[in-house]
Amino acid sequence: MGELAERLPAVLFVAEHGRPTYVSPAATTLLGNPPEHYLADPIAWERDRVTLHEISNTVKEDGTRRTYGALVAANPALDPLTDLPARGLLLEHVRAAVARSRPADTTVAVLHAGLDRLDLVAAGLGRDAYEAVIREVARRVRDAMPETAIVASLADGELAGLLADIEGDPTTFVEAAAGHVIVAAGRPLEVDGERFELTARVGASVLAADAADEHALLRHADAAMRAARRGDGNRVLFYEGGTADALERLLMTGRLRRAVDEGELLLHFQPIFRLPAGSVVAVEALLRWRDPDRGLVPPLDFIPVAEYTGMIEPIGHWVVETCCAQSAAWRAAGLDVPVSFNVSPRQFRDPAFVDVIECEVERHGIPASALIVEVTESVAMREPACVEPVLERLRGLGVRLAIDDFGAGYSSLARLRELEVDLLKIDRTFMAEAATDPRAGRLVGAALDLAAALDMSAVAEGVETEQQRRFLVDRGCALAQGFHLARPLPAAEATALLSAAPGDG
Ligand code: C2E
Ligand code: MG
Ligand code: MG
Repeated sequence: MGELAERLPAVLFVAEHGRPTYVSPAATTLLGNPPEHYLADPIAWERDRVTLHEISNTVKEDGTRRTYGALVAANPALDPLTDLPARGLLLEHVRAAVARSRPADTTVAVLHAGLDRLDLVAAGLGRDAYEAVIREVARRVRDAMPETAIVASLADGELAGLLADIEGDPTTFVEAAAGHVIVAAGRPLEVDGERFELTARVGASVLAADAADEHALLRHADAAMRAARRGDGNRVLFYEGGTADALERLLMTGRLRRAVDEGELLLHFQPIFRLPAGSVVAVEALLRWRDPDRGLVPPLDFIPVAEYTGMIEPIGHWVVETCCAQSAAWRAAGLDVPVSFNVSPRQFRDPAFVDVIECEVERHGIPASALIVEVTESVAMREPACVEPVLERLRGLGVRLAIDDFGAGYSSLARLRELEVDLLKIDRTFMAEAATDPRAGRLVGAALDLAAALDMSAVAEGVETEQQRRFLVDRGCALAQGFHLARPLPAAEATALLSAAPGDG
């Protein structure tokens, strides 16, 4: 069960006195019935392949008992060879992602990866070697795909990945993911003392652009992979025209390297406020790239590529160093405000990352408690074996930890309870409708209660209106961040704001 909980979407529900009072829209998609159905008939919670996975009980001051939980598919159709979801389960995930994407104005892409020359392995090395190769490549592809992706096994040596909830133009993101897959599958393999390399081709299709529904998405990604196989060396092919070569990304690498070397990177700082008084409890450092050709480039336009090419490591180092320097400068000016910064999945897998923090903290003479590390929900949820030692060392140093974008990805609530984290940052998509749509409002309320039950401080992200601020004050949310309170500011403006605003000691 623990393993399933890590892999499959966990969907928040809230129940009072054992009766569900809130079922998230994603749960509805999974269950195939409107929440009202479950509100009227709690027994119907356990049906089909879905069972209730309860994680915590809280007794509130007025004596009501609340339960928070996750819905987890109990018996997913897994491919026995790789242990990955098989086609049927993938199709369900794609269908749910397509349904989610319409109201959210996001898009969905499917990658279909096929290994070349697999028949040679079977012929030359035998069945056991063949299966070992497929398992190893499946494991690598799973690790190479974004943490939130669903990776499925469709046939021997054919894997598919679902990339859901993509905001903006999907091309760069999809290409980067496909590039990761090709690199991962192409690394040397060793079976029975034989060392060899395989190549993979990837086909991609994107919702709306080249497929209208879940069936077409899967079919077209498959067709594009086969076209890539027939073609003249293109490793990644989008369905219908749009070809892309992963090597083109190397151009971007050169420009990013220059950005680091020539000082084109900068940080903006967005205050996090305590409600209702308005003192500043921390500032979040947000990366910008002042590209001579394009002006100020937002992080989501270059971080995914930097992740793919490995440039995130020097960039991440620069961010840590600059945050420490800024913190030291503020402290020297009597402004004792913790600096929070974002860490991407690849940095989190790099053991040297904690050394960098330790070294920079010492060099700048600041306490480690002046730093907060923000790690996204999906990183925190996956790969406990790899994440846990890093978290442990950070905690040992005294660095504080935050889970970023909570609610945007898939959470195992059981895992959430295990993590010793100080802050839970509630993704801003929840804020968008919280003050006007009672159901969205209840979900924010549920997340706030959940944070309290787990002894974490909740931060509401994306507060854009006075109405939303008031909603949070009414709900007793202590910490908030958003354009309505303050935008991300250049260092000098942030210093002016900090000097004027009351601190939080
Ligand atoms: P995030 O960590 O969730 O940061 C919050 C993002 O929401 C920022 O976008 C911020 O400008 C934006 N935001 C803040 N208040 C509001 C609001 O009221 N409404 C709306 N619509 N947006 C608001 P930004 O700066 O574009 O950063 C986007 C993401 O890029 C960040 O999301 C973070 O995941 C990533 N990122 C930023 N800096 C770094 C970095 O140094 N390293 C890494 N690895 N990732 C970074
Ligand atoms: Mg953040
Ligand atoms: Mg966030």
